[in-house]
Amino acid sequence: MTSIFSKIVAREIPARIVYEDEHLIAFHDIAPQAPVHVVVVPKTEEFSTVTELAAADPSLLAEMVSRAANIAAELSNGDYRLIFNSGESAGQTVFHVHAHVLSGDLAEGSLGGK
Ligand code: AMP
Repeated sequence: MTSIFSKIVAREIPARIVYEDEHLIAFHDIAPQAPVHVVVVPKTEEFSTVTELAAADPSLLAEMVSRAANIAAELSNGDYRLIFNSGESAGQTVFHVHAHVLSGDLAEGSLGGK
């Protein structure tokens, strides 16, 4: 089944894309939970969770982390929180691995929500 994020890659549904290359796409979350809330997604929908991705393709995971840092630097002050919701009871709703990049005025000392 095609994920909602693959539909964004295919331009079948719109998104505010901030970055794209051969492997990754990044766009503003439709329901932002922070002043900057961008979702970084590998174009492949082969992996549902970060656990699977880390086991199968650690360099792709490293690309996601590096891209998250660049996005936080470009759109905010460079500090960021990186969240991978993994599993339904942890809040995952899209089963195509993705990182939430939150930045800008986050609550001090809080792990926060997504
Ligand atoms: P998760 O709950 O961790 O699976 O994250 C899925 C995220 O995708 C949520 O924060 C949603 O707000 C976001 N989302 C869902 N549909 C879209 C969309 N069309 N454009 C941008 N973000 C979306």
